[in-house]
Amino acid sequence: LDASGEGFTPEEYDIERALRPLSFGDFTGQEQVIENLEIFVQAANRRGEALDHTLFHGPPGLGKTTLANILANELGVSIKVTSGPVLDKPGDLAGLLTNLEERDVLFIDEIHRLSPIVEEYLYSAMEDYKIDIMIESGPNARTVQINLNPFTLIGATTRSGLLTAPMRARFGISSRLQYYNTELLTTIVQRSADILQVPIGMQAAIEIAGRSRGTPRIANALLRRVRDFAEIKGNGTIDIEIARFGLKALNVDAHGLDEMDNKILATIIDKFKGGPVGITTLATAVSESGETIEEVYEPFLIQQGFIIRTPRGREVTEAAYKHLNRVKGPVQGG
Ligand code: ADP
Repeated sequence: LDASGEGFTPEEYDIERALRPLSFGDFTGQEQVIENLEIFVQAANRRGEALDHTLFHGPPGLGKTTLANILANELGVSIKVTSGPVLDKPGDLAGLLTNLEERDVLFIDEIHRLSPIVEEYLYSAMEDYKIDIMIESGPNARTVQINLNPFTLIGATTRSGLLTAPMRARFGISSRLQYYNTELLTTIVQRSADILQVPIGMQAAIEIAGRSRGTPRIANALLRRVRDFAEIKGNGTIDIEIARFGLKALNVDAHGLDEMDNKILATIIDKFKGGPVGITTLATAVSESGETIEEVYEPFLIQQGFIIRTPRGREVTEAAYKHLNRVKGPVQGG
């Protein structure tokens, strides 16, 4: 399981869908974001208009896809789902766009990975609900402009820094999703356990929540794995003992940090004396892109108090030394 909690089998994918909240009322956390969206949806519904184009950004597994589906439900419209890398050519996009009914939602995951020509093609669709399509081929080829039904584009990205400025400017609504605290994740774990019909104790739910890297997708994945232990090694109930046993067997880090999180901390400590180290240097040392570190890994490490950002770069904290069982070397001049 990596930071995204992705890499599931098809069966697991089905379960993930079953656990997905379907309405605002069902969705836990992200209070400010939800509050605003509820108002925008109500207003759009009252006027009978399409909701403004909406962008969700934030680390993987925090509920961007879930929210896109909820918006479609709350708008009472259908949703078509695609993703940036899948849309090779404008023709692929044209097919989707012309099939949208009035006020429908088109969800594009990983929207930062659209090819430049597809992105350009999207602009007029978003702005004027118009696209040019090529008809016939060879010497008779010509383009005609066609009108689309008013629709809502919902884009999701983990890498908002990679989105072009013109693209970003075309979203009327833009929301950043935050990591979830243990309390919220506990609620999510309990809700999921309910849906999976597995009895779970409060302490056990808190234990799983606390090791989920602030991420609902990971919380759900851990819950399912621990459920296996409860069924095979226990009596089917997830109590605190079986939760601890399962999480230990799964090698889940006490804070839910994943391999890359720990690699980043260890590298700063071992190669850069705890920092400060610049993001580019760090990126090279751990063989990951600077943007991914900044947008996927670092936010959680900062939120958990393992890293701080200083004007001279990233520094690890005492908590990081403790977490990795490292002894802090003598501080120069200290
Ligand atoms: P993203 O699109 O940001 O990567 P998803 O929307 O796919 O994340 O969410 C991953 C899973 O986590 C979903 O299947 C859903 O079950 C669960 N999930 C996400 N956010 C919440 C939430 N606020 N409450 C309950 N479950 C959630």
